[in-house]
Amino acid sequence: MTVTRAEVYPMATKYDAIVIGTGQAGPSLAVRLAETGMRVAIVERKLFGGTCVNNGCIPTKTLIASARTAHVARRAGDYGVTIPGSIAVDMKRVKARKDLLVRQSREGVEKWLKSTQNLTVIEGQARFADAHRVRVGDELLEADKIFINVGGRASIPPLQGIDQVNYLNNSTMMNVDFVPEHLIVIGGSYVGLEFAQMYRRFGSEVTVVEMGSGLCRREDQDVSENIKTILEGEGINIRLNAECIGFEKRGDKVAVQVECNTGDKTVIGSHVLLAVGRVPNTSDLGVENAGIEIDKRGYIQVDDQLRTSVPGIYALGDCNGRGAFTHTAYNDYEIVAANLLDGDQRRVSDRITAYALYIDPPLGRAGMTEAELRKSGRKGLIGKRPMTQVGRAREKGETAGFMKVLVDAETKKILGASLLGIECDEVIHSILDIMYANAPYTVIQRAMHIHPTVSELIPTMLGELKPLE
Ligand SMILES: Cc1cc2nc3c(=O)[nH]c(=O)nc-3n(C[C@H](O)[C@H](O)[C@H](O)COP(=O)(O)OP(=O)(O)OC[C@H]3O[C@@H](n4cnc5c(N)ncnc54)[C@H](O)[C@@H]3O)c2cc1C
Repeated sequence: MTVTRAEVYPMATKYDAIVIGTGQAGPSLAVRLAETGMRVAIVERKLFGGTCVNNGCIPTKTLIASARTAHVARRAGDYGVTIPGSIAVDMKRVKARKDLLVRQSREGVEKWLKSTQNLTVIEGQARFADAHRVRVGDELLEADKIFINVGGRASIPPLQGIDQVNYLNNSTMMNVDFVPEHLIVIGGSYVGLEFAQMYRRFGSEVTVVEMGSGLCRREDQDVSENIKTILEGEGINIRLNAECIGFEKRGDKVAVQVECNTGDKTVIGSHVLLAVGRVPNTSDLGVENAGIEIDKRGYIQVDDQLRTSVPGIYALGDCNGRGAFTHTAYNDYEIVAANLLDGDQRRVSDRITAYALYIDPPLGRAGMTEAELRKSGRKGLIGKRPMTQVGRAREKGETAGFMKVLVDAETKKILGASLLGIECDEVIHSILDIMYANAPYTVIQRAMHIHPTVSELIPTMLGELKPLE
């Protein structure tokens, strides 16, 4: 029997643009394009809002707020406040509070998209048929412009015995409504450490197993060591130079096998959280049918304006490997919209590295690390101030951490900062903005900041710069 072309390629529904994924770039871009009068389709296979809304930023920061409340309540005596009885955490209510915020955000995205004129929302898995067409179930969509915003998911390495144990990842952690007796966190980086501290504060025993010689290996050694001190100070067990190589079920417990030179080779706990990195959602997208280039880890290759190797196809957010944050995904949307709609040639390389690690106290980061500056061979200046010398931190009884800023000795421009301390996820922005303004550090040094704040010590720190030896 001869199969006709019409059967292989059923009639496609034509759009001006197709957006795949409703993460942190797709919805804003789809709405912006639709508002110009273009006919746009946006496809989502699972939860509106993607990772940030459903199992990333919003739920974790909501849970962290509950964990911090428990922590502060336990420390009430330090402030002269008496709370009779012991502090108990009701995880069902903690989860319900988180679920409510997530649901409101998810429904907000869905309603926004579904109520936008010229925008068709299609629910299902999108897969490229070729460079202009995308299949979603029985439907075939066609457009000259296609925007990929498929994000990523937790990486699950093929470790021995992994299929015999019920491990958790950042998504399944969202269903936990109890306090695990002993949570073993595999991976001592951003995602793992936020969960580690949160669950310690909820009342779990927590062990972090990290194969590297320090936590958050991308950070400077002094930052990494300080983070370790903070977490150990709360009773978290940290195993460094310990590579997880396998799992074994032991009754209702999990045994994690560890390759290490010191310490136990087996860590036994009640639950395991795998936080060993992320992978892009590109393996089931049919990129090969469209000829879109990906690297060996599956990240879509893009240029400075987020164009893929195929004309008319763009990739935004985590799937392009150029950022791993909500703000980088949103900035990708701004770059694409500026180039396509505003005649403004914004580029990825214009942005300055910026992120926070939401342990408590948080780490706010901008620009280069000290290690990167040393490697660059540039002549640098450094300013550093422990949080014990910040009045606001002392008044609040939270003096862990330090602030560090790096300056180019010749141009006087700020090159980077690592601020680990109370409110430093906010304070970092005064440094970030002066970097964007391309102004010398002396502008902040002469600024009059408000007393008493953590920010008021930034001009002081900049007045005490020393050559980076
Ligand atoms: C635990 C955790 C905490 C985090 N905390 C922070 C934080 O505090 N601050 C911060 O900036 N970042 C944080 N992040 C990172 C942040 O969540 C991501 O960088 C951000 O969500 C990436 O957005 P995105 O638009 O690239 O993709 P995503 O948000 O992942 O969205 C992609 C969407 O595409 C859909 N999709 C995938 N494939 C297809 C397909 N073939 N067809 C149709 N739909 C598809 C998915 O279902 C998903 O809805 C955190 C991440 C985790 C895991």
